Amino acid sequence: MAANITDHLQLIDGRGCPATGNGWIDSIDPSTGRIWARIPAGGASDIDLAVRAAARALPAWRETAPAQRAALLRSWARLVRDNLDTLWRLDAADNGRPRREAEPAIAGAAMQMEYVAGLAETITGTTVSVSPTASTYTVREPYGVVGLIIPWNAPLAMFLAKATAALAAGNTLVVKPPEIASVSVLAAAELVAEAGIPAGVVNIVTGEGASAGDALARHDDVRMISFTGSTQTGRRITEASTGNLKALSLELGGKSPNIVFADADIDAAVAGVTAGIFTASAGQACIAGSRILVQDSIFEDFIEKVRLRASQMTLGSPPDAGTDMGPVVSRVQFDRIRGYIESAEADGAKLAFGGRSGSELFPRNEDLAGGYYIEPTLLTTDDPGLQICREEVFGPVAVALRFSDEAEALDIANGSTFGLAAGVWTQNLPRAQRMITGLDAGTVWVNTYRRLHWALPFGGHKESGIGTSNGPQTLDEWLEQKSVWIEYS
Ligand code: NAD
Repeated sequence: MAANITDHLQLIDGRGCPATGNGWIDSIDPSTGRIWARIPAGGASDIDLAVRAAARALPAWRETAPAQRAALLRSWARLVRDNLDTLWRLDAADNGRPRREAEPAIAGAAMQMEYVAGLAETITGTTVSVSPTASTYTVREPYGVVGLIIPWNAPLAMFLAKATAALAAGNTLVVKPPEIASVSVLAAAELVAEAGIPAGVVNIVTGEGASAGDALARHDDVRMISFTGSTQTGRRITEASTGNLKALSLELGGKSPNIVFADADIDAAVAGVTAGIFTASAGQACIAGSRILVQDSIFEDFIEKVRLRASQMTLGSPPDAGTDMGPVVSRVQFDRIRGYIESAEADGAKLAFGGRSGSELFPRNEDLAGGYYIEPTLLTTDDPGLQICREEVFGPVAVALRFSDEAEALDIANGSTFGLAAGVWTQNLPRAQRMITGLDAGTVWVNTYRRLHWALPFGGHKESGIGTSNGPQTLDEWLEQKSVWIEYS
């Protein structure tokens, strides 16, 4: 093994562990295509050890006073902030997210941890009056051992936010991070003990989805699964979890429309639309605005302005402060995205700009020529039924369609199996309100795009998910309700 390749261990019961089967998975730096680290190839037996550790840690953790749980979680948040520089670099090496996104995302996650930690002290029940001779009320309690399965596009930020919520609610946790981007999660998990959180409260098992992920979704002692990832995997997890009918929270895919009316502030819309699909993790974001709907009177002009703006973006090495867009995450994703561009053209969509990739983009840079870079790409079509208009590409590839009026815009926007997010660009307030009402999506932005905040709930409609995270009620998905009837007669 080359000297600069580092090995990272799973965390089970407070100890660093290789996989029980002794296998390893290579972590590839997507900006170069080279191996930079290895993680254990954990499987069902590692999951079982982790679930047992979490079960042993549960009684003491759930009985820890909420204020104390909150204090411990805030200490963890502080350590994340203290180690920000190391953590964003690991995240960027794993998934190619540029510094411009990775660093603020993790700093933001530390702020979110503090907000969520405080919610531990807001868990309440309801007093309900049903009889003069009884006290009747509800209490909310943690599920117990819960599982967290996360994707590679923002693994660390997602881990920190969701693990904090699970723990604030009093659960103990087994996490299965994405096999192609687990290193930053393992590094942040090492800080759990330093924060004073007891061994076994957080356990991390790395490994493939089909082995470690499936074993977690199937495990009979796991009471709830929070999953973020593709809709297809969400279905598999739902099936695997039926043995003990686990509670499920699913944050899935999207094909979000960004709708531009002729009366919009065009410069703002060009900036928002471009950032929504290209600088958004090179389009690898569930909320990417991958369908650009433009009113027909401004269609050509608008596309030209987006082309110009996209051409000014810098593709480059993720740690460089000047990089606007990094590579896509893996060779598999690279091939998949290029396949989508090819089939869209074969289906009759027109390439408005982009389409180049890999060494075509960096002919004189030996390092980056081997990276998984795809330039911002836009296709146009009049047929919303094409595959490129229906399926999530998860890359810097958008499709633009024209519409004539609000009704047609809504028809195209809602004509999707997904319903995660939507953007509307208009200066006409009544029109904005009609669009908000008409759009079938978990989040609607008006005159902005891709703005999330931990205090604002987030979730998907239709096949984009089940459940809601963030917001003041975010602990609800980690708690179950108990009704109490005390009879005095
Ligand atoms: P993925 O579904 O392939 O994998 C996500 C996680 O699930 C990984 O940890 C993977 O190992 C695991 N997994 C895979 N197969 C499994 C199985 N059979 N059983 C249990 N676990 C399994 O998704 P991805 O490619 O890592 O991420 C991209 C997807 O995530 C996109 O569809 C994107 O839209 C979605 N996403 C959604 C949100 C949201 O909040 N709605 C946020 C980020 C990403």
